[in-house]
Amino acid sequence: MHTSIQNGIIITPQELLRDHTLILNDKTIEAIQHSGNATYSGTVINAQGCYVIPGFIDVHVHGAVGHDTMDATPEAIHGMATFYAKHGVTSYYPTTMTMPATAIQAALENVEHCPQPTNGAQHLGVHVEGPYLNLAYKGAQPPEYFRPPASAEYGQWLETGVCKLITIAPEVEGGMAMVEELTALGVEFAIGHSAATYDEAVKSFNAGVRQVTHVFNGMVGLHHREPGALAAILTDDRVDAQLIADGIHVHPGMIRLLVRAKGAEHVMLITDAIQAAGLSDGEYSLGGQQVTVKDGIARIASGALAGSTLTMDQAVRNMVKFTDLPLQKIIGMASTVAARAMRLPHKGKLQVGCDADVVLLNRELDVMMTIVGGNVVYRAETFN
Ligand SMILES: [Zn+2]
Repeated sequence: MHTSIQNGIIITPQELLRDHTLILNDKTIEAIQHSGNATYSGTVINAQGCYVIPGFIDVHVHGAVGHDTMDATPEAIHGMATFYAKHGVTSYYPTTMTMPATAIQAALENVEHCPQPTNGAQHLGVHVEGPYLNLAYKGAQPPEYFRPPASAEYGQWLETGVCKLITIAPEVEGGMAMVEELTALGVEFAIGHSAATYDEAVKSFNAGVRQVTHVFNGMVGLHHREPGALAAILTDDRVDAQLIADGIHVHPGMIRLLVRAKGAEHVMLITDAIQAAGLSDGEYSLGGQQVTVKDGIARIASGALAGSTLTMDQAVRNMVKFTDLPLQKIIGMASTVAARAMRLPHKGKLQVGCDADVVLLNRELDVMMTIVGGNVVYRAETFN
């Protein structure tokens, strides 16, 4: 079954293609042809006035529209998936919180057994954020559940087969050893909620850490005599930095510094969204703590930021405002970088042979259509 997406501006890793047609065959991108040569059969989608881009990949997201990964139910995962798809996400990693071992394990087993939704973004595994973190940078992670790595616990995570990314403070006792042990088994690590010094950060990269959880948030700030993990992060091309580009978690000036230091190809946009995403201001919960959302900003009682209500399409629009990067690079930060970092060679780009995960954005960069694995899962009422 073929689908032809015509008349749009196709954003590939190399260029912006006008007068081309993207042809999907079932779950795969079959061809990108000059419109003059294209042979159309099957469904035709008229993308006039739209950018045709790879679907967004969010590696760090806790919840949305009243659902949370820690609910550990298929309804939560599917509710989140439907909401994310409306915002251009085609794949994501439900993200856990620092909670008792049984709760984290339940969340993992839920994703292990949860079928992919028919009308939303696909879950590709779980991002386990904590519990092996540093209390000094707890953020909104509940402190009573912080603990050092225990193989009896994380061994069970691995048995589910869905533990793909772990945020760790590598300087905690046993942290470096865990990174070495599990990276050898194919698990990705992100440094985060960490008091690591410059040297400790470099050591953790040598051990296998390749990502940074919400860069600048939950870590030592930059100082010229105490550079901390950030100086290592900003100057080491082995690591990709997750960024919450809501303009609140990180000042736009620091975002420009980040992009200048690392290059757009090493920065990935995330939302770190919580269950309040997609809902109005009010009282919510996160990791068993009360969260107050005011003007879309989520905080726990201490005043610490508690995730966000950001969506990936909004993050993209924000980056257009915050930086002078070409749109193509910003789209890559929301798709290609995460796909490479998570070792997904068939995702994150519009290229022949890749998965048919495609999004249409209008000129204002609002999502008009989301296609997951060749199926249209979202179509804006205002489209065509
Ligand atoms: Zn988070």
